[in-house]
Amino acid sequence: MQSVWLKQALKADGGPGITPLDGDLKVDVAIVGGGFTGLWTALELKSRDTSLDVAIIERDICGSGGSGANAGHALPMWLQLPLLEQVSDTESAMNIGNAALKAIDDIRSVSAEHGIDSQISETNTIWAATCEKQSGHWDEMLRLMEGFQVHGYRYLDKDAVRNATGSDALVGGLIDDSSVLIHPGHLVRGLRRVALAKGVRIFEKTEMTKLGRTSPPTVTTPQGTVTARKVVLGLYGWSLSIPELRSSAMVMFTDAAMTKPIPDKLDELGLRGVSGFTDSRVFIEACRPTADDRMFWTKSGGWLPYGDRLDRCSRQPFRTESELRDVIGGYHPALRDVEIEGAWCGPIDRTMNGLPIFGRLPTCRDIVFGYGYSGAGVVPSRVGSHILASLVQDKDDVWTRSPLVSPLSRSFPPEPMRWIGGQIVKAAISRKDRYDHAGKEVGPITKFWLQFKPASYKPS
Ligand SMILES: Cc1cc2nc3c(=O)[nH]c(=O)nc-3n(C[C@H](O)[C@H](O)[C@H](O)COP(=O)(O)OP(=O)(O)OC[C@H]3O[C@@H](n4cnc5c(N)ncnc54)[C@H](O)[C@@H]3O)c2cc1C
Repeated sequence: MQSVWLKQALKADGGPGITPLDGDLKVDVAIVGGGFTGLWTALELKSRDTSLDVAIIERDICGSGGSGANAGHALPMWLQLPLLEQVSDTESAMNIGNAALKAIDDIRSVSAEHGIDSQISETNTIWAATCEKQSGHWDEMLRLMEGFQVHGYRYLDKDAVRNATGSDALVGGLIDDSSVLIHPGHLVRGLRRVALAKGVRIFEKTEMTKLGRTSPPTVTTPQGTVTARKVVLGLYGWSLSIPELRSSAMVMFTDAAMTKPIPDKLDELGLRGVSGFTDSRVFIEACRPTADDRMFWTKSGGWLPYGDRLDRCSRQPFRTESELRDVIGGYHPALRDVEIEGAWCGPIDRTMNGLPIFGRLPTCRDIVFGYGYSGAGVVPSRVGSHILASLVQDKDDVWTRSPLVSPLSRSFPPEPMRWIGGQIVKAAISRKDRYDHAGKEVGPITKFWLQFKPASYKPS
């Protein structure tokens, strides 16, 4: 199921121009996965060494995963700083924070240099609350940010948040001056075009069916085997198909919907050019306008796949159209019944603490990986491309020593416990979100199960 973003981007770039692999191949670096992680890493490697022979192996088309389906909130990584500091030190945490700011600049500069219509909107994203029980973490967050000398966050009270978003449903929030909104489809397809122009070979409709943990490693596909000095896995939620990566992350889907262009309605309601926002539910809801006068929104807590069977879940959203309309209607009642252009869903790869993980596969040091973005990968995938490139080049530098290069964990159990436990935790989260809105406290059994939930928007 293609997102409206991806359909728009494919229409604009004249169709995919697919080249599947045709026979065996030897390269310096094989990257599996043609999303932001794979494409940024390919570009980073080429910028470091133009002579490297880099190939991307993508089972569908570039952008068909999370990168072409997301909400396009390009968020800096300030919220991650306290946790990063806890697992490393202040300087290493700030390095990541600054790299994330630079990543947003990279999106701007690559788009400007190569004519990518990323539709960057500087209207920011607000981390908002929809009920009193959700608010209250602002003070702590602002205090922590002061300690890091980060001044991008400002508190907005109910009136200010209404002015910024046009929604009466929000009771307050933190606006992040450095966040931007982008068109994820155009960006990912644009990066593909730039990568091709830089000499990266891209093989689409080419699925990795086996990963050889050999020296050198191999990537087997139905059309041939790729042998590479190094392999990069940029597989996002599909990382669960790699046994070594399975226990460090779980996947749950997020639903998304986009209206048809509604310029008159946006004008009438004063919603043209408003800020995007996420709420503070555990099953986050997010909403933003688009550059072509539509409204777009998401709600997490969708399908919970069994094992690595992600594709069974991605055919249609978890929620009915009416339930999705209720989400937007909760923020903008007058938009509840406007015509929807498309609704889809996509996986979110969650780690327990909400930080992505980069590293080398314990069973083969020549295979490196990056995943676990926990719902915010647009910016961290660019940060991670530096880390992955340094790992590929066997460097000992600020990137390979970064706190995001961390050991794999045993946070999530194997199936069937993962799925059964996941359903119970999912029910507990839904109950907590409902009770918060009713101003009620959840009981001890719900509290017990909530301790097993992975981190939400704010890492913990
Ligand atoms: C609905 C939704 C909303 C989101 N909103 C935001 C947001 O607002 N801001 C934000 O920062 N993040 C958001 N995210 C998360 C963000 O989209 C991801 O973190 C990011 O796109 C990850 O990029 P990636 O390249 O690692 O993954 P992907 O783009 O998914 O790339 C992985 C690729 O691997 C390919 N693949 C899988 N298995 C194989 C195989 N065996 N062989 C070959 N190829 C394979 C897939 O087809 C896919 O194209 C959202 C995600 C979703 C689903």
